[in-house]
Amino acid sequence: AQLANQIAAGEVVERPASVVKELVENSLDAGASEIEIVIDRGGHKRILVRDNGCGVAEAEITLALSRHATSKLSSQDDLAHIDTLGFRGEALASISSVARLTMTSRPMDQENAWQAQASGRDMTVVVTPAAHPIGTSVEVQDLFFNTPARRKFLRSEKTEFNHIDEQLKRLALSYYPVSIKLTHNGKLLRHYRAAKTPEQFERRVSSVLGKGFTEQSWALDNQHQSLHFWGWLGRPEVARSNSDHQYFYVNGRAIRDKLILHAIRQSFAAILDEHVYPSFVLYLELPCDQVDVNVHPTKHEVRFHQARLIHDYIQKIISEVLHSQLD
Ligand code: ADP
Ligand code: MG
Repeated sequence: AQLANQIAAGEVVERPASVVKELVENSLDAGASEIEIVIDRGGHKRILVRDNGCGVAEAEITLALSRHATSKLSSQDDLAHIDTLGFRGEALASISSVARLTMTSRPMDQENAWQAQASGRDMTVVVTPAAHPIGTSVEVQDLFFNTPARRKFLRSEKTEFNHIDEQLKRLALSYYPVSIKLTHNGKLLRHYRAAKTPEQFERRVSSVLGKGFTEQSWALDNQHQSLHFWGWLGRPEVARSNSDHQYFYVNGRAIRDKLILHAIRQSFAAILDEHVYPSFVLYLELPCDQVDVNVHPTKHEVRFHQARLIHDYIQKIISEVLHSQLD
């Protein structure tokens, strides 16, 4: 079973940033409104994610660390209606197979917290009483300590930290109501405050991508039948130089989709008569029976049931924005 976990870890746990992604997604699934991420040495040494979510009960804490144990899916039928980020029950088992993992948790209705530890080869989970406020902390130390081949592929502290930073930006641009803090080597570097109104949304985007981004963008907001498409579109003059701010969310999930990117590029190309790399933070919301989000385990791809229609809709709306702003 341990070998299976390590193989599965190859898919889920590529580098510290992927550990951060899995842990933060668990905190989001747990309904947390505050998430703190503490990193030491680019995550090589230590990754800690603390939340104020629903917690894990004493009776479930061992199970939470074992493979294919998920509390989020009760039948095959649920697969079609997934509204949580996780559902495969693999992340914690995979991570603990290649690191030393400690989960400390206290649900609201429990007097005390409990801690479970699992690390590397012997997957024996040790559970002890602990002190913790309502919510959960997961600490991952010495990533890849027992898989030297993988450890070799870790890049410098700085590079790995940048990946973590980028991963959190991607999450912070969705999940507006959740406050996210990031500390590296003892220094609080990011604090994305919870946002609930459109003005606060814009402030959050500024704090994630810098004031320059929102100042050099056009806001858009369109409702068409059951589709809602909104966000910020970088002005074409920035598009020529800056291509790294490309964020697209479908029903709140970050995706990287060729079809979508094509639609956006086409609208720019038609107007500017040249190929540019526009920057954007855009959100498409549509009924969940019109899209499959689970095409790929890492879930960056989606399948729209009416792909052509979505493509043309996005192209049309963006072209309208460009026309109205440039005319
Ligand atoms: P999945 O997210 O696919 O269910 P994971 O391995 O990521 O699988 O997590 C296993 C289980 O552990 C989850 O289903 C959940 O019940 C529990 N869990 C993990 N992290 C948290 C957390 N931060 N708060 C509450 N429960 C958690
Ligand atoms: Mg998960």
